[in-house]
Formats: sequence, C-alpha cells, structure tokens
Amino acid sequence: MIVMKFGGTSVQDAEAIDRVASIVRDRLPEKPVVVVSALAKITDLLLAMASAAGSGNREKALELCQAARERHYATAQELLGTHGFTQIHPELDADFNGLDDLLRGIVAVGELTARTTDNIAGFGERVSSKIAAAAFSQRGINASHVDSRQCIVTDANFGKAVPQFEETKARLEQIVKPLLDRGRVPVMGGFIGSTREGISTTLGRGGSDFTAAIAGGELNASRIEIWTDVDGMMTTDPRLCPDARRIRTISFEEAAELAYFGAKVLHPATLLPAIQKNIPVLILNSRNPKCDGTRITATAPLGKNVFKAIAAKKRITVVDIVATRMLMAHGFLKSIFEVFAHHRCPVDMVSTSEVSVSVTVDSNESIAAIAADLAKLADVKYAGRKAIVCLVGENIRNTPGIAARTFAAVEDVNIEMISQGASEINISFVIDEADVPAVISRLHRTFFSELDPEVFA
Ligand code: ADP
Ligand code: ASP
Ligand code: MG
Repeated sequence: MIVMKFGGTSVQDAEAIDRVASIVRDRLPEKPVVVVSALAKITDLLLAMASAAGSGNREKALELCQAARERHYATAQELLGTHGFTQIHPELDADFNGLDDLLRGIVAVGELTARTTDNIAGFGERVSSKIAAAAFSQRGINASHVDSRQCIVTDANFGKAVPQFEETKARLEQIVKPLLDRGRVPVMGGFIGSTREGISTTLGRGGSDFTAAIAGGELNASRIEIWTDVDGMMTTDPRLCPDARRIRTISFEEAAELAYFGAKVLHPATLLPAIQKNIPVLILNSRNPKCDGTRITATAPLGKNVFKAIAAKKRITVVDIVATRMLMAHGFLKSIFEVFAHHRCPVDMVSTSEVSVSVTVDSNESIAAIAADLAKLADVKYAGRKAIVCLVGENIRNTPGIAARTFAAVEDVNIEMISQGASEINISFVIDEADVPAVISRLHRTFFSELDPEVFA
C-alpha cells in the first residue's frame, strides 16, 4: 500500500479536489490511503473564530463560522452536483451547527481552553475528508471516509499532541487495514487525533504530513507521497527566492534538517516514521502531477554542490543569559535548561562563552515568564524578530573552507549566533528577520549558480 497526502492548496476548492481524484485514480493498483488537509486557509479561519469567541466577540465568531460554512457548501455543491450535495448536506449541516454551538458555548463560559481550541482547529480536516471521500466515490473510486480521531491516538498535549504509536498501530490495523483488504480507498483527515479517552487533539500546525507518515509507517507503506503546491523540495523556499530549483533526490537526514529549520514543505516530525521503516517519501505537485518531484530516501547521491538547500526559520527569539552570580558554576546549564523544560519550550540553537549562554527558541507567549524564571539565576535579555538561516548538505563533511565561503557571502550582515557541527551536515546562524530575503538570495547565488544535474533539476 501507499499513502498519498494532499495539503491545503491541493484541496482548496472543487477544481483542486477534482484534480486530486484523478491523481488518486491513477494510483489505485497500489492501494492508496488518502490523507487530506483542511481546505487552504481554513485552519487559520477556525483559530480566528475560536479566538474571537474566547474574547467574547460572539458576532464575529459566528460570522467567521458562517463564512467557513458557505465555502465548504459551495465547494461540495460544485464537486458533487445538486443530488450528491443533498446527500452530504445533513451531515455537514450537523457539523457546522455543532461548531456554532461550541462557539456560543465558549462565549457563554467566557473561557477558551487549549482543549476546546484543538477541537475547533481540527474541524477543517474533519469536513474536508468527508467532502473528498464523497467526491472520490462519485468519480468511481471506492472511497471510505475514516475519522482519523479513531485511528491516531495521542497524549493530551493540546496543540502539539504526541502520537502513541503502539495504540495507533492497533487502531490503524483494526480500522484502515480491513478497508484496504476489501479494495477500498480510506480517506482520512490529517492533523487530527484524539486521546485514549476520545478527546480531540491536533499534531501541531502543518501536521497532516505527520499523519501521512504515521499511517505509512504503521501500515508498512511502500511509499509516502506528500502532494503540495510546488514541484518538490527546492534549493530554498521559492516564495523567498524565485531562483529556487528542484532537488531530485535528498537523504532523510538532510531533508529532516531542512524541515526542522523551516522548510515548510515538510512538517519536521514527518520523516521519523519513514526513517524507522526505511520508507521512501516523495514530494509531488498536485498542479503538475507529471513532474518527478523530490525523492527522499536513506541515502542519496552527494553530487558536486556542497549544499542541497538553504532554509530559514523565522519568528525566533534569542535569549541571552549572563551568569553574574554563579559564573558558570557546575549545574548552571542544567538549571537553565530546566527552566525551558518546565515551560515546555524547545530550544533550537545554543552557544556558550565563559560567562554567558545564548539560546534560540520559537517566539511564543511564554517567553516573558521564562525570562522571569531565568532572572532568578542570571541576567537575562531577549530579542524577537530573529531568524535562523540553515544550509544543509552531507558534502559539508568532506569540504574544507565552507564556513569561510558562507560568511564571506554575507559579510555585511549582522550575525548573532553561529552553529556548525551538531549534525555535521548543517551550518546555521541567526540574523534579523528583516535580513532573510537578502541573505537567502545571496547565499543561493553563491552556492547554487551551478547545479549538478544528478541531484538538481
Ligand atoms: P501544504 O498545504 O501542501 O502542506 P505548505 O504550505 O505547508 O503546503 O508547504 C508548501 C510550501 O512550502 C511551498 O509553497 C513553499 O513556499 C514552502 N517551502 C519552504 N521551503 C521550501 C523548500 N525548500 N522547497 C519547497 N517548498 C518550500
Ligand atoms: N490544516 C493544518 C494546518 O493548516 C494541518 C496541515 O495543513 O498540515 O496547519
Ligand atoms: Mg504543510
């Protein structure tokens, strides 16, 4: 079997979902499980209505909900025609009425919890998967809608829930596998899961890729396909740099570093299940299905270029911690990292001197509280609107003088932290967010003007 995941833009409207149906039809002999995201921008809209309700703005919340309802109805009607739409309409109506009720309930109690936010955030995938399954059936595919919340079991870490793999495997084998055995095409929403007690959760923004990988890993897929709106993994974000070119083949390790450091085309956790089971992952373009895309596998040709790609991760905060009182006494770093752990805040980059430590974290609401806790140990400053730029490639291991070439290309830019070595396949550094476009395009020109055709298209 294979897993085919279609992102938000690939299911953004009736035309896109129709295209997806033909792509899936071409793969029927390979027994696909289809994972879909919410229609493009719907998750943002859902979070906006949750937040409006949470701040007591009933009218705005219901207005946004009405807009979401209309968009889904229009899409379903265009896809399914009047007769098909009449069949699915009662179910969609019940779903959207439930969402209206939930929003009113939030306004009434005057509180929006993480648990309720997750329930609302996952609504997009719940309905998009129903609409896609109905559209597939109408187009001659034996599709069966599967409620992902019954398959993907997670902990209760709302907003970024962690899958419980053993239980998830059992559920997938119990619910999805028999459908495949009967020649049906299971269609499930990405991004969503539920706790053992049945409370809805989400896997974090962009998490539909992760759902696809979890399903592929646990069902021993021969391939996981991530269908998106670009031709594959590119040498950098094509939105930032129009010169970006497609990477034909890249290793798990390289692609994982890129995803972790901001290449949005893949959710950072996606490759873990694939690596464990050695399942190739393909990135493909649903608007250009003939293109070969990018193949991500355990090993990939190194090629002649030093790097495979450049990623940038924005919305970073740099926290500088200066040890005035304890002067790097032993246990100092431990106590610092305990503060971050206590706030459940992952740290990306670290650099130390004799008396100070700088770390980067994703900008988030708890930074002020973290800084207040750290201030009990040391002097603390923090600054947001930073970005990590990261150059990735296994050839770094064999090429001397790479750091010099990299920093020469951006010599007039203020660089705050540098890290090379942790994985041996990346060089990363921190700059102001505003400098990202210029830095990326300069580095791209330096390292990707000539491309090895074995690796790049
Ligand atoms: P989907 O909705 O299909 O999951 P995403 O928006 O999450 O799609 O990811 C695709 C986007 O990722 C692309 O449109 C592109 O702007 C961005 N992106 C960032 N870095 C890269 C990269 N190195 N290669 C390809 N796309 C990238
Ligand atoms: N719809 C979710 C999001 O926008 C998940 C995804 O698209 O992967 O984050
Ligand atoms: Mg995505």
